Amino acid sequence: MSDVIDIVGGGLTGPLMAIYLARKNFTVRLHERREDMRKAVAQEGRSINLALTARGMKALDEVGLKEKVLDICIPMKGRMVHDTAGNTVLHPYGQKDSEVIYAVSRGQLNNLLLDAAEKAHVVITFSRRCTGYDIDGNLLHFTDADGGAREVDAGIVIGADGAGSAVRKAIMARDKNFAFTNDTLDYSYKELEIPPAAGGGFQLEAAALHIWPHKNFMMIALPNTEGSFTCTLFYKTKGAQSFDQLADEKSVTDFFAAHFPDAVPLMPRLLDDFFSNPTGALYTIKCAPWHHAGKAAILGDAAHAIVPFFAQGMNSGFEDCSFLNSLVVAGENNWEKVFTAFTAGRKDNADAIADMAVENFIEMRDLVTDPHFILKKKVGFALEKRWPDKFIPRYSMVVFRADIPYAEAKARGMAQDKILETLCAGISSPEELNWELAEKLLHDMPARKSA
Ligand code: FAD
Repeated sequence: MSDVIDIVGGGLTGPLMAIYLARKNFTVRLHERREDMRKAVAQEGRSINLALTARGMKALDEVGLKEKVLDICIPMKGRMVHDTAGNTVLHPYGQKDSEVIYAVSRGQLNNLLLDAAEKAHVVITFSRRCTGYDIDGNLLHFTDADGGAREVDAGIVIGADGAGSAVRKAIMARDKNFAFTNDTLDYSYKELEIPPAAGGGFQLEAAALHIWPHKNFMMIALPNTEGSFTCTLFYKTKGAQSFDQLADEKSVTDFFAAHFPDAVPLMPRLLDDFFSNPTGALYTIKCAPWHHAGKAAILGDAAHAIVPFFAQGMNSGFEDCSFLNSLVVAGENNWEKVFTAFTAGRKDNADAIADMAVENFIEMRDLVTDPHFILKKKVGFALEKRWPDKFIPRYSMVVFRADIPYAEAKARGMAQDKILETLCAGISSPEELNWELAEKLLHDMPARKSA
């Protein structure tokens, strides 16, 4: 039993977990590889944002940060789909005014969490990279800012150190039964920018997530509070139509002019951004168990890195923190039991969202313009309107319903999809829907009331 908790990683999940545990009166030490982001982000100049949804918001609410975070968010009510003629159409995410997702700056959110952690008396050390963890000897090894090596007597260790987790590697080395897979997608991504309008303000509709879908690739754009949009191009890594082909200014200019003509005039720094910003890889990490010997556990991307197409990486990581917190009772912890219950309660859900995130890439880059898919969406909304406890669109279950576990959303989503396929066969609009058949098909679907 230890009252000291060492959290490795001060990204998004590390400070949140630290706040939860500090509020339970544990002594929490947070070790972060980078320098203090609150100074670094101000200098960085490049905005990177994320979509925050109900699961993440629920966790932030639990630690009293929801209102503060809402102050730095922009609500997005749907996907604004752009075609190559510059036409746009908005596909709403949900049917109620409250069914929005929130664009938030990664840097600002990280800073807010670090401030709150410090306020909760978490001791944060920056520029401290974990280089190893001797689980049997209870020692954490670090390199400090000056390059010097440092050993720290470890308390309970929580690895919130992202997809390349040093804590996970230590657990893996110690547990010969540790299962680990890393599936790299054959796509990569590059972040670009649409700056604010010359006189200030947004150059595109601010209350939407913009998509330029192109069947096997796409660009998206999310708004930032200062009026810019962070755009992300998702494109094959190698091959005929891929980042490989975008090696010089002409090929980049031609590619954007052909596929994103309405965005190009809004991107005056396109070429600079394209060639100076890194190209990132996309992968899914699955592993188990997420703990070892009642001494250490991993959460967030360290335990389950997923592709970003359902905007749930951070949200699921925040849900990890909330769930782990619910298992911890100050002063009477059997960490082995807590961590075992943590893996048992989260693993299936993490696997489910990992799989749904890969599937959602196809929806975003291809299906959003497909008439049959659009019809299914409309029919799904009609069913939800009439039987809100029986039919809940999968997107809504994942994104708006923190009370429905991901594994349930996946299973229910598959059953609902079969029903939609049956109901949409041979019709072209929701007005033609066979309501009698719909009622019959939904009869056995267990009711799911809002929590
Ligand atoms: P991280 O945020 O990666 O934080 C890990 C921290 O640990 C970092 O600060 C790092 O410096 C530190 N660290 C690493 N190694 C060490 C070490 N050895 N010693 C000390 N410190 C260390 N998620 C969403 O929910 N919504 C979205 O819209 C969304 N969009 C995304 C878009 C893209 C392009 C990508 C790539 C991801 C997106 N995600 C999104 C996923 C989200 O970014 C991650 O799931 C989230 O950042 C995970 O948080 P984390 O704290 O587990 O890891």
